[in-house]
Amino acid sequence: MTTFLGMPATAPRGVGHLRGDQPFPRAAHDALGNSQMRRNLRHATTTIRGKSGRVIAELPDWQRLRDAGSAIKADVMSRLPELLIQLEARVTGAGGVVHWAADANEANRIVTGLVRQTGSERVIKVKSMATQEIGLNEALEDAGITPVETDLAELIVQLGDDKPSHILVPAIHRNRSEIREIFLRAMPGVDPALTDDPPVLAAAARRYLRETFLSTSVAVSGANFAIADTGTLGVVESEGNGRMCLTLPDTLITVMGIEKVLPTWRDLEVFLQLLPRASTGERMNPYTTMWTGVTPGDGPQNFHLVLLDNGRSAVLADTVGRQALHCIRCSACLNVCPVYERTGGHAYGSVYPGPIGAVLSPQLTGIEDNASLPYASSLCGACFDACPVKIDIPSMLVHLRNKAPHSPAERAAMAAAAYTMSRPRLYASAQRAAKMARIVGRRGRGLPPPLSGWTAGRDLPEFPKQTFRDWWAQR
Ligand code: SF4
Repeated sequence: MTTFLGMPATAPRGVGHLRGDQPFPRAAHDALGNSQMRRNLRHATTTIRGKSGRVIAELPDWQRLRDAGSAIKADVMSRLPELLIQLEARVTGAGGVVHWAADANEANRIVTGLVRQTGSERVIKVKSMATQEIGLNEALEDAGITPVETDLAELIVQLGDDKPSHILVPAIHRNRSEIREIFLRAMPGVDPALTDDPPVLAAAARRYLRETFLSTSVAVSGANFAIADTGTLGVVESEGNGRMCLTLPDTLITVMGIEKVLPTWRDLEVFLQLLPRASTGERMNPYTTMWTGVTPGDGPQNFHLVLLDNGRSAVLADTVGRQALHCIRCSACLNVCPVYERTGGHAYGSVYPGPIGAVLSPQLTGIEDNASLPYASSLCGACFDACPVKIDIPSMLVHLRNKAPHSPAERAAMAAAAYTMSRPRLYASAQRAAKMARIVGRRGRGLPPPLSGWTAGRDLPEFPKQTFRDWWAQR
């Protein structure tokens, strides 16, 4: 077993779901043509925003909780290696086995090997962003093992041969009649008289899943948190499917990003208040399952924890960008983002959509592979205001835009601007020339080629009648 902390490498290509097939502007252009999806999204995000706003307003110390969450996460990042080693020792001491996975390939190999050892040809899964990130379902299928998603929205995505488009509600882009069609088409044993009434759809999923829960001996989960102090893992969820997966099978395999560790139970208290209110708009999530290693005669008798790096050490190495690792995947930033609400999650190409995806995905993959994502934002700042752990996403977007590759024309324009601005006389001449442009009537029509691209989506500011220098000289 090797620890890869301190050896930053980005997530490998050809595996997992961190890279899209096309840049964001092109994918967004296609997505904007899907008016049904936009209606579904607007309805869903507006509802969640309203619920969340109401329960957050009940807490007089919400801002202090946010400060505490942010401080705890900053502390964790500053001593991540030490906390992970402590977590490993505690989990091992409690009867679990810890595996370190440098990247998606290694994690997939470990999990597939562990499932094979059990002899099971099927696993039940708790909703997990980490396993989607590494493409675990595809790796299991390649090995002849059937993964069954048990979260209702994930099940809809899986049966529809679709991709998730939201962190919390992966099938947010589907409405109830589309879900009914998917169930009728792909759910084994479904009643052909199925209606699109939500309780009826939920009951159909429950019937299908109940049988699977009771006949599958291996589960794969993610983890929302891990307590280094005791080696305790935690999953929060709303449907109870997670509780079934985490308690019924003989073998439990948990894949967790290394950033999810917390020092103590006391720290957990803060996040269990922040997460449900910011994500589902609930005072408390319906199910919180916590387990520590193996308890003889109670729950899974074999527990494996796979600690996943897959680019996280590279993110940690960037002192500005590392804030992205503070994310608790509540999805509040998605629900307030005007760009996400219009394009939906698929346009981002990664399992992490929306504002957090725009800063996390390019860092996990290396900026070259997701160079358009930091531009998928108007920099309005709504994500920063909504984030329960106060991640300054707008500043990170600007930071990443600086790191992204720029076209030769843009580099030449910026070099010319820098040259001009550092020479006062030349700058004054340029200002006079700009005034001329106003007089000759380019106002309102944008810049001429090759600079026209810049004003294609922006208004060209009107140049003042008098420059500051002229005004100053007059006095
Ligand atoms: S960045 Fe903040 S608001 Fe967005 S998902 Fe993460 S924790 Fe939630």
